[in-house]
Amino acid sequence: QLTGLTTIIVLGASGDLAKKKTYPALFGLYRNGFLPEGTRIIGYARSNLSLQEFHNRLFEYAKLPTDPIKEQFKEFLKICTYISGQYDKDEDYKRLNKAVEEVESTIESGNKNRVFYMALPPSVFIPVGHGIKKNLYSNKGVNRLIVEKPFGMDLESSRELGKALAPLWREDETYRIDHYLGKEMVKNLLIIRFANVFFGAIWNRQSIANVQITFKEKIGTEGRGGYFDEFGIIRDVMQNHLLQILSIVAMERPISLNSEDVRDEKVRVLRCIPPVEQKDIILGQYTKSEDDTKPGYLDDKTVPPGSNCPTYAAATLWINNERWEGVPFILKCGKALNEQKTEIRVQFQHVPGNVFKNAPRNELVIRVQPNEAVYMKMTNKLPGLSMDTVISELDLTYQRRFSDLKIPDAYEALILDVLKGDHSNFVRDDELDAAWKIFTPILHKIDNEKLKPDPYAYGSRGPAKIDEFVASYGFKRPSETYNWPGHSNT
Ligand code: NAP
Ligand code: NAP
Repeated sequence: QLTGLTTIIVLGASGDLAKKKTYPALFGLYRNGFLPEGTRIIGYARSNLSLQEFHNRLFEYAKLPTDPIKEQFKEFLKICTYISGQYDKDEDYKRLNKAVEEVESTIESGNKNRVFYMALPPSVFIPVGHGIKKNLYSNKGVNRLIVEKPFGMDLESSRELGKALAPLWREDETYRIDHYLGKEMVKNLLIIRFANVFFGAIWNRQSIANVQITFKEKIGTEGRGGYFDEFGIIRDVMQNHLLQILSIVAMERPISLNSEDVRDEKVRVLRCIPPVEQKDIILGQYTKSEDDTKPGYLDDKTVPPGSNCPTYAAATLWINNERWEGVPFILKCGKALNEQKTEIRVQFQHVPGNVFKNAPRNELVIRVQPNEAVYMKMTNKLPGLSMDTVISELDLTYQRRFSDLKIPDAYEALILDVLKGDHSNFVRDDELDAAWKIFTPILHKIDNEKLKPDPYAYGSRGPAKIDEFVASYGFKRPSETYNWPGHSNT
């Protein structure tokens, strides 16, 4: 935990991420008393905004539900100031530094810590990294730098970015955010796996047939396709969020919960995964909805005409180690689909020598969002006079079980980790390298050979071949008629 005075400097404070995530998360920490005493937040960007305009922007976006919370937000705004300046001018950074020093002059002794949050497009990471190191680095306290994805476009560009920033910012000062690592259910994975004896015993190739990690979004690019088109769904979701989840699902037990011990194990498992091959991937791009009400990807005016950019991808990864050899890990993600969800579906092997004919496989589903839940689909006797079986579930639905608890936003949890100096939920440099090695060859193939994605209608479950693809790795849908009596999730 930081001692002394801490100033948080948000670079790119006029932008979308700052408004939607960074400041609301800082407000959440402020409300709950988690910002260190005396913390000040200084926004910096080129836009020439008055302090009032800047505050109005944050306030309007926050859409606060009640008057007391609105009042709290107004109090919060009193610790938030704004300075406008360029990203490549020393004199502007010097003005920013002066503002920080003014804040720091309010204490006579103790550490003067600075947390820099780069809420900026990657094109300016390097000049800003240089500018703040040169003009704002504190010699009187701790410095921490938060960087947002994308960390490069492939292995080479990621290494270049790393090489440019490494001489300026030490690895222990750098916090690379993958906000999925701040999600409650992703943080729960370590506990589910390593604090329950019954999962420990069956978490291997002997008991598990396949694992699916699925991210589905209902909306398409909706006018932001120009930005998305440069990256595509693999860079946007699969190479980072889904692979991070995979690494925690598949890693060995860390020696301790110390962040380096946790990250060592994540890197180790990633290094057992060979690059994705073309035969193990399908790509899709959405077309207009069947009822004609929703536009196709190529109808988005910001998307380059004829783009081959995938908005859906499924890829099967193999982990060549003692625990997982032969178990397919199927990652699926897409936009403009039938539902919004992120889930991990662990499908177990069939019961050997089963005396109950056609008993379906067990599945453990960990639902990351929305409506967090952990449920085990299991076969049960259909109550009554017969010995008929039925699929039922051991069900932990968070809304019911933890109804009084608020689940913190991922950004709130992660910024608190930065303040505490806990790196466990941030991406280490060698982890990033290992992740890019898995996806770079297939990404180059997609880009260079202009692989054509399969079309799927907006609002469908993805390209028509998806079920055949998943089945080809041994996934067997336990039942088409399984009926969960709870509330709808979507
Ligand atoms: P943004 O709104 O496009 O940019 C943030 C700010 O950076 C802008 O307000 C602008 O401020 C400045 N800026 C924009 N383009 C620039 C350019 N070409 N050169 C110099 N400055 C420029 O971006 P964002 O959506 O906030 O995202 C920031 C970072 O977070 C990106 O790396 C993004 O990939 C990542 N991210 C965003 C989200 C999200 O929800 N938006 C989610 C996850 C990750 P001034 O012009 O005032 O300087
Ligand atoms: P499901 O929605 O039936 O999906 C199961 C799997 O089958 C997914 O991999 C899905 O792929 C695939 N699938 C879906 N429709 C298919 C189709 N027509 N043909 C072939 N494959 C198909 O999930 P479930 O676990 O059996 O649960 C059923 C419903 O009950 C879900 O809405 C679930 O959220 C809900 N439920 C909720 C809780 C809880 O919240 N506590 C507990 C139990 C069940 P895609 O993911 O790619 O579509």
